[in-house]
Amino acid sequence: MARTVVTSLVRLALIPSLCVLACSQAPDASGPADDDPKQAVEGRVEDLLARLTAEEKARLLAGSGWMESTPIERLGIPAIRMADGPMGIRSWVGLSSMTNVAATTVVEATSFPSGVAMASTWNTALVQEEGRVIAQELRAVGRDMILAPCVNIVRTPLWGRNFEGYGEDPYLAARMAVAYVRGVQGEKVIPAVKHFAANNQEFERHRIDEKIDLRTLHEIYFPAFRAAVEEAGAWGVMNAYNKVNGRWAAESRFLLTEILKRRWGFEGFVISDWGSTYSTADTINAGMDLEMPGGEPMQLWTTRESFQQNGNGAGWLTEEKVLAAIAAGEVEQATVDESVRRILRVMFRAGLFDEQRPGGGEIDTPAQRAVARRAATEGMVLLKNEGQTLPLDAAETSSIAVIGPSAAVARTGGGGSSLVRPKYAITALQGIEEAAGGEASVRYALGVAMEGEDEGVDAREALDEAVALAEESDVAVVVVGYSFKLESEGFDRPSMDLPAGQDELIKAVADANDNTVVVVIAGAPIAMASWVADVAAVLYAWYGGQEAGHAIGDLLFGVAAPSGKLPVTFPARIEDSPAHGNYPGENLHVEYAEGIYVGYRGFDEREVEPLFPFGFGLSYTSFEYAGLALSVSEVGPGDTLEARVQVTNTGGRAGAEVVQLYLHDVASSLDRPPRELKGFARVELEPGQSETVTFTLDESAMSFFDPGQDDWVAEAGEFEVLIGASSRDIRMKESFRLLD
Ligand code: BGC
Repeated sequence: MARTVVTSLVRLALIPSLCVLACSQAPDASGPADDDPKQAVEGRVEDLLARLTAEEKARLLAGSGWMESTPIERLGIPAIRMADGPMGIRSWVGLSSMTNVAATTVVEATSFPSGVAMASTWNTALVQEEGRVIAQELRAVGRDMILAPCVNIVRTPLWGRNFEGYGEDPYLAARMAVAYVRGVQGEKVIPAVKHFAANNQEFERHRIDEKIDLRTLHEIYFPAFRAAVEEAGAWGVMNAYNKVNGRWAAESRFLLTEILKRRWGFEGFVISDWGSTYSTADTINAGMDLEMPGGEPMQLWTTRESFQQNGNGAGWLTEEKVLAAIAAGEVEQATVDESVRRILRVMFRAGLFDEQRPGGGEIDTPAQRAVARRAATEGMVLLKNEGQTLPLDAAETSSIAVIGPSAAVARTGGGGSSLVRPKYAITALQGIEEAAGGEASVRYALGVAMEGEDEGVDAREALDEAVALAEESDVAVVVVGYSFKLESEGFDRPSMDLPAGQDELIKAVADANDNTVVVVIAGAPIAMASWVADVAAVLYAWYGGQEAGHAIGDLLFGVAAPSGKLPVTFPARIEDSPAHGNYPGENLHVEYAEGIYVGYRGFDEREVEPLFPFGFGLSYTSFEYAGLALSVSEVGPGDTLEARVQVTNTGGRAGAEVVQLYLHDVASSLDRPPRELKGFARVELEPGQSETVTFTLDESAMSFFDPGQDDWVAEAGEFEVLIGASSRDIRMKESFRLLD
């Protein structure tokens, strides 16, 4: 009872107008409020719903600005104030976003590593912590909702937004999604798990119609969304721009209502991606709850030439259009009520009615930076380390050449809505200088200009200077990759090749210095065939946020040991990618003909050798696996099974290993991939230390989606548990039977 009274008092002080209504009706002042907060919220929602006029309800279905939902001041309903993510808070003010012409100051926030780098950590606790910190910063800048996480699967290495998501595997992406959402919602910030569903290419993203079979949707493109909803209870989901099987995602009753709301029990609201709507009745009836953006910024946007050219659509759920659709009998009032109910429910759950959120907390604190640095360090993947070139010994290395177009420029993220503006960012050069600690001479040469940058640079001179520096130095570190202008939301990469001149630079430096270390700053696999055999080491740094330079320095000098593992397969050539030949489609149609054989599933099925496999990453130490034991050899329906394995650090230094569990269904009525990730554990071990890792497998791990039954099915029979250090480095195997 006491708690309820306090809640009411707080509300009384904060939102007088709402309190008048809520206190007079007092739905939450007695009854189930104490025992069941969910029930109490429902009562408050219904109360408020009953007080809204039809006009006000209609108004709530669309935004009032670029990043704000519509407030109803009469009833104390505030606007939901949003900002982009996922790797920190994107500034929502300023000209580019048309958000708020009056605002002049850009919002600066901590820039975290990209999603693909976070997935490379395989560290769910760290991803949850990242979500928490981002949410704290979001509240500090007076916002309520972060348009994140992006959980779309990497179907092709060429997708411009690969860096935002969590890689190619649905299980890994699901674990990351759950962690991020828990972190964010734990701070009472609303996430928007995006983009539902199958936003896997930027090419014609507003018009492309994707043909994807039911099984593939459920097994590959849905699981991360499903887990975010079912396990983390996500409050918000954003639809995709594209069409799926002939329907805009925004108009897909199948996606938004049948799957998301009915089958998975989603209780939150669906928010439209910015400019992804094309109708009023069909969109509302499909299950769209909130259209964004709205108001004047939306109107201004729709008049732009680029809006039409790109194929955006907006302005369909305005008050006027919604009311007209109701009057015409195309939309039922109850359907609108349901959308309003969902929006209000989330606002209550997130505490938007119960506390004032003026913002004003701290941004970019040492603690927040520390999370960014740790994440950058754990996310980088060591792909090659011949002759143990790394870690560099500061005492023995007297001269280091740091070369390349990404050495002295901090490339914190890819381009588009996810790009955060940090207060500072550490370049690779700075990080290396710091880690060298003044013991070695660190000198820099550009080598080659990043495509589209430094136009005045004389290419011959720049290359010669870099080669000369490499020749004179003990070690050459070449920092290459993409820029946010070349790898971005809005377009796909034309190929996997490094931008112009960078392959040549690497080859020339490698010719000049046997100790050439390549550091790649990019968001997706690149082609390395022309030089990978000639260099001593390759560190894949991804876009590592503002602390990437420190992470690079720490890893190169062994202050930290690399522990990242690839969340995507690196094909030797683009032709090997399973989607090749069925991407980007023709005449605005693309067929996902590879079906469930996305990423390593496709490479394994067709027995194609990748350049670097899914799950791969080197360390400075070594690990041995022993004693794989299953708790039972036969599993009854509905039962679980435990798999235990002992991991030992057999090398000379501390390090972390990601133990991976793949499952192989030996015989099945439908084809299944040779192996599928069903568990992983990251363990940190001192030299000589062992740890027993335990995985629990239930029927869901053994199931496949049977389109004939429109359901998940676990078929009786033999399964193999495969324990590995990557998808292609299976160290141990044990079998069990699933009983009828
Ligand atoms: C992107 C979304 C983003 C939204 C708002 C869209 O273009 O696809 O991911 O959240 O813009 O900036």
